[in-house]
Amino acid sequence: MATPNTEIERLLRDRLAEVQERIAELAKAPEPGSGIGFGKRIGDGTSEAISRRNDIGVGNSLLVTEEKLTHALAKLDEGSYGRCDHCGDPIAPGRLQVAPESALCIDCAR
Ligand SMILES: [Zn+2]
Repeated sequence: MATPNTEIERLLRDRLAEVQERIAELAKAPEPGSGIGFGKRIGDGTSEAISRRNDIGVGNSLLVTEEKLTHALAKLDEGSYGRCDHCGDPIAPGRLQVAPESALCIDCAR
């Protein structure tokens, strides 16, 4: 039982909006040390630096996710959604269910 494309598109767009919202939040996050914005105070410089680095890591992975979602929507548009970008084989429905933004089959993603 395949998920209808309209359903997938809505799901992808929802996720995209969510990711873009988080990116916007990170972009306007206060500088470390200001003591606001993260719901907790950071004591020393080391954990502050780590926290800052984590924010950047989160930001990067959000950008990657955003790109994947945009790509998945484009594939949906051109009718190649659910097919592997690399080998053209169908992507397992279970994989798409877990990660609807997948553009590679399990074999090619390895
Ligand atoms: Zn493949």
